Order: sequence, then C-alpha cells, then structure tokens
Amino acid sequence: MTKKVAVFPGSFDPITLGHVSIVNRALPLFDEIIIAIGVNTEKKHMFSVEQRKSWIKACFPGNKKIRVDIYEGLTVDYCHAHHANFILRGLRTAADFEFERGIGQINRRLNTSVETVFFLTESHLTPITSSIVRDVIRHGGDISGLVPNQVKIS
Ligand code: ADP
Repeated sequence: MTKKVAVFPGSFDPITLGHVSIVNRALPLFDEIIIAIGVNTEKKHMFSVEQRKSWIKACFPGNKKIRVDIYEGLTVDYCHAHHANFILRGLRTAADFEFERGIGQINRRLNTSVETVFFLTESHLTPITSSIVRDVIRHGGDISGLVPNQVKIS
C-alpha cells in the first residue's frame, strides 16, 4: 500500500497550540506528516525560519512520523516532490473558510492528485493566531496558554 503522506504548510511564526492540536489529531490518519514552513518573501516575519523550525521540532521529539522542513514555491509542487497526496489545514472561522476555499480549489486545479483535508479547530483554540501571539510578544504580554512550552522567547 502506498504511504499516506500529508503536508501541513504554514508560516508557523511562531507555532501555536492550535497548530500542535491539528498535527496531533491528524497523526492517526497518516503514515507521515511533513510540517512545512513556507518561505514567502512578501510576508514579514518575526522569527527566522531556522528558529521556527527548531521550535516545531522541539514540540514533537522522537516522533518518527513527523518531519519538519522549509520550502519555497507552490505547496502542490512541494507535495509532488515529497510524494504527499494530502495537504492539512485548520479552520477556525468563516473567514478562514473563505480564504482556504480559494487556496484549496486552486491547488486542486494545479494538481488533482493532492487533496486538502480540513480540521475544525478545537473550540478553546479558536482565538489563537500566530499574528495575535506576535502582537502579545511585541508588547511584552504572557504567551503561556497560546504557544507550546517549547517556544521560549529570550
Ligand atoms: P498561513 O500563513 O499559511 O496561514 P499559519 O502558520 O498561520 O500559516 O497557519 C497554518 C495552518 O494552521 C492554517 O491552516 C491555519 O488555519 C491553521 N491554524 C492556525 N491557527 C490555528 C488554530 N488556532 N487552530 C487550528 N488551526 C490553526
């Protein structure tokens, strides 16, 4: 049987408890999950890709089903190169749905062998976004309860 490989693409700037929850819930469905940090030169980021990658790795120590990678370009091309037939995304709100619908439908047009799989956010994690976390950090607030303990801001 072919290995079921899923790519979870995102900025992860930084990884939050919302992201961790999606990965943990998807794990039983797939043989491998590649958490892929998309490098988007037009998007401003707070943390370097290397820092983001090392935090993500620290969240899943010793889990042989999880790989963390960095990529540029189209997500479907990355999936094709890594023999992944699934893209994982999380849905928090109706706004997420509209945004994800567009990306998902275009991705399907680009490569019909890649299916996008959506997970509804756990209700208590719905308000968490990386951009809110960055705002809290910028203003010196407490980010515990928003990000995994492995994300340490010096
Ligand atoms: P992007 O820049 O591609 O939106 P993010 O790192 O912000 O990347 O998010 C990656 C994925 O994780 C997206 O599918 C997003 O909907 C999902 N996600 C983000 N925050 C949460 C959360 N709190 N609960 C569930 N899914 C989430």
